[in-house]
Amino acid sequence: MDIVHLLPDSVANQIAAGEVIQRPASCLKELVENSLDAGSSRIQVLVRDAGRTLLQVIDDGMGMSETDARLAFERHATSKISEAQDLFSLRTMGFRGEALASICAVAQVEMTTRRKEDEVGTLIEIHGSDVVRQEPCVCPVGTNIKVSNLFFNVPVRRKFLKTDATELRNLLTEFYHIVLVYPKVAFTFVHNDEVLLELPAGTEKQRIEAVFGNPKNNTYTSAFLDVKTDTELVNIRGFVIKPEASTKKAEQYFFVNGRYMRHPYFLKAVQTAYSGMLPSDFQPSFFIYFTIAPESIDVNIHPTKTEIKFADEQTIFQILLASVRESLGKFSLASTIDFDTQGSIDIPAVPTTPVRPPQTGGDSTYNPFHTRNTVYADRVPTNWESLYEGLSHERPQRVVPDETCVPADTLLLPEDAENCPMWQYSGKYLFMPGEGGLVLINQHRAHVAVLYAQFMEQLAHMQGSKQQLLFPEVLTLPQDEMALMESLLQDLRAIGFDIEQLSPDSFSVQGVPAQLSNLSALPLLHHIMQQVRERGADTQSEWRSQIALSLAEQAAIPYGQTLSESEMRDLVKRLLQLPQYRCLPDGKTIVAMMTDEELGKRF
Ligand code: ADP
Ligand code: MG
Repeated sequence: MDIVHLLPDSVANQIAAGEVIQRPASCLKELVENSLDAGSSRIQVLVRDAGRTLLQVIDDGMGMSETDARLAFERHATSKISEAQDLFSLRTMGFRGEALASICAVAQVEMTTRRKEDEVGTLIEIHGSDVVRQEPCVCPVGTNIKVSNLFFNVPVRRKFLKTDATELRNLLTEFYHIVLVYPKVAFTFVHNDEVLLELPAGTEKQRIEAVFGNPKNNTYTSAFLDVKTDTELVNIRGFVIKPEASTKKAEQYFFVNGRYMRHPYFLKAVQTAYSGMLPSDFQPSFFIYFTIAPESIDVNIHPTKTEIKFADEQTIFQILLASVRESLGKFSLASTIDFDTQGSIDIPAVPTTPVRPPQTGGDSTYNPFHTRNTVYADRVPTNWESLYEGLSHERPQRVVPDETCVPADTLLLPEDAENCPMWQYSGKYLFMPGEGGLVLINQHRAHVAVLYAQFMEQLAHMQGSKQQLLFPEVLTLPQDEMALMESLLQDLRAIGFDIEQLSPDSFSVQGVPAQLSNLSALPLLHHIMQQVRERGADTQSEWRSQIALSLAEQAAIPYGQTLSESEMRDLVKRLLQLPQYRCLPDGKTIVAMMTDEELGKRF
């Protein structure tokens, strides 16, 4: 007797159902997604006993013909793909033609459906994959599908369902994931005859308010800031919570091309943007929608998973980080003129070793860094340009990792900012008239930003210029720091350090980046390492960014240095050429604004 045989469809469907339909929530998801795929504008969900007894979805979508209504419950019956390659350019929600077949294998299903071109509709009833009846019926255009007694024929599954409260929570979670991406579709959710959610069609923001807040006064969404970034690779829109409105419990939602996704790595990008702004046990709430070419994501073929793989995750991480930072930065720009709300230390620890005399053979032009930490009001450099030696005058084309930052918007700044009248105040701030207010620029941070961009560019192109030291120095490190130094070595060399390992615990330093040649090598290196340790960096691009930032902080003009008008203009001009001029990579504010309104209030 042959022992290999094909499984009867009903059994195959039950097995498949185990994968696709694990609980009422997964069933609900499939049904609602089908309604959306059918172009519905209104979808009602009626639930009894957390879905155990009844899950009903009523839509006003395109409906099905008599034949389609029958076929829809066959395994791999789908109107959505016909070739395997279609899988990769998927734009509809369902695509495997498995859901209805799975659902009807483990429940009692009754469906009525009608297309608008048909006068009568179809009623079909299926119990555990067996068609009990199919007949014409009178019904509105659209589809009404009732799933009763889920898992009636799979006692094990039924037993594994959690309490009603938990299953209802699962249902609602699944429902949120969907309704938050379809604000233009009206939804209702009724549980045991009680209307839990009534969501009219509207904007994304109105939908968020309707789900989590109180649409009457918008108190929930008014605590959010807009995020919006368009790049060739990805489009990011959405809302992030104002830092002061955040709490321990957060709503955190990512969506990609209309689907909810979990993405721990991108979550880290958002958290990084908030770093230093929230108490340690607080989390930022956000609703972020990505749009990306379907080819560049791996739509996971498994319907129940919510993890999605992106082709270029690191770049998207950076874009997302920059984008959220920009929103938070704009907000702090508009709401405060206090530069120090986001952090305190500005001037890094002063190198302890005395400043070396100018190197022989070094260039004879004035080196502004010789005045570091010293106020020489009478010795202001006249060739301010030398501050930026090596920095191309064009806006940097590729600045890593902020290379993908959107050009900052210049709304608040006057058209011709660098030619406006400018003043210096307190050796610390530059100020000038802006559009609708007074613009204030933190001089040290502005210079840090300019130098940071310069160092990042040099790192990206491995073009740091080196200044050989007359007297090589030896850097001795404890064991735990050796590993860190080793991971930084390549980038340190790229930026101009001439550094070689001498022994298991020491390095010889024979050259430093030319722009920093007046600073002592060892404190420079210690500062970099301290920075990387404190601010944390796990990837090559984060290391680079920390190295560049540390060097920029050490090299930038200090507070207290008087600037001539042409120096101020030059600094502002170069600052405004940067893609990100409002904030430093660590989130500190560079440019602030006091609006006319705020000024008016003071008189
Ligand atoms: P898939 O959605 O992956 O195609 P399903 O088993 O969920 O597979 O549905 C099978 C088919 O039934 C769909 O391709 C669609 O043609 C049809 N269908 C299901 N639900 C609806 C609905 N609410 N309105 C119109 N057609 C539907
Ligand atoms: Mg489907």
